[in-house]
Amino acid sequence: MARRQLSRKDARNLAERQVDRLFELAEREARSGNDARATRYVTLAVRVCERYKVPARHKRTYCPSCRAFLVPPRNVRVRTGDHRLSVSCLRCGHILRFPLRTGRGR
Ligand SMILES: [Zn+2]
Repeated sequence: MARRQLSRKDARNLAERQVDRLFELAEREARSGNDARATRYVTLAVRVCERYKVPARHKRTYCPSCRAFLVPPRNVRVRTGDHRLSVSCLRCGHILRFPLRTGRGR
């Protein structure tokens, strides 16, 4: 049998599930203190994301610089102020900033 060709959509769905799974594993490892393995899972997940353009749902859960899975307050510092959320990775010092919605309503 020839290799079944996945449609682009199927491939992306599959990739998305794989990424979710990898982040799940990364979280479990990070929470049980195995940072090296968590980082490895994140690296794999990021690679899949890059290849298949998976929606960036996990953006806030890892450090884009050193690929550490962020577990507050163990390896990350989260601060708000100046209408933004600052997340600093305590491993490499990288700072992520997310704008906070100001005002009421949505
Ligand atoms: Zn980092």
